[in-house]
Amino acid sequence: MRKNIVAGNWKMNKSFEQAEDLVADLTEYFEENKPKGEVIVCPPNLYLEMASDYASESSVLNVSAQNVSEYDNGAYTGEISAEMLKGLDINHCIVGHSERRQYFNETDQQLANKVDKLLDFSIIPIFCIGESLEEREKNNHFNVVKAQLENGLFHLNSDEFSNVIIAYEPVWAIGTGVVATPEQAQEMHAYIRGLIAEKYGNNIANDTTILYGGSCNPKNAKILFANKDVDGGLIGGASLKAEDFIKIAESF
Ligand code: PEP
Repeated sequence: MRKNIVAGNWKMNKSFEQAEDLVADLTEYFEENKPKGEVIVCPPNLYLEMASDYASESSVLNVSAQNVSEYDNGAYTGEISAEMLKGLDINHCIVGHSERRQYFNETDQQLANKVDKLLDFSIIPIFCIGESLEEREKNNHFNVVKAQLENGLFHLNSDEFSNVIIAYEPVWAIGTGVVATPEQAQEMHAYIRGLIAEKYGNNIANDTTILYGGSCNPKNAKILFANKDVDGGLIGGASLKAEDFIKIAESF
């Protein structure tokens, strides 16, 4: 179902104590000030259980992992399976963040496998797509995004696809302070929704949640989220401070 969502990707940040403080602050605030959209935090794996415990007491907070193994179980040192996430009541997981694609060489096929594993356990993939600066400058951004969607998600049947959230994150905007203009975001989101409509039909396309990510902050969130095809944000840096993340969550 299409929803307004803000998801905070903490990446590899915070001590356990700092992480717990942030989750506690967000839980407390949102319990008293219900946001219009859904709120998801994506802490490092070691803090998922703690965050999940808070979420179980909250009517607002949801928890997402940042990554999952493409395998079921076995001799894969250092990996975490979808089944393990489910065991902690984790219901969302980021897949294909550009940092995973770039620094860990994750391929489209691996990402498609990860999506399948998550869906096997009814965990919602937050599937990231987005072009590099070079690709945009060569006017190749639509082709890149199309290929990422087709290779990572379009093997799913309609029922499966209905459980996926998409995050459009232009790589040139991630952590750079250079945010996409509202027009650039809307243009790409509409394009993505159009591709989904071609493949799965208008109903599913209109029901798909498409988040924007890349230097979204309390100052620009409102104008980005005001666009018709932008359903919220995947937030990196600005999700690390409760005050900033709360302002973004209140930008709908
Ligand atoms: C991200 O890494 O998903 C992200 C959007 O980062 P930032 O908000 O810091 O650009």
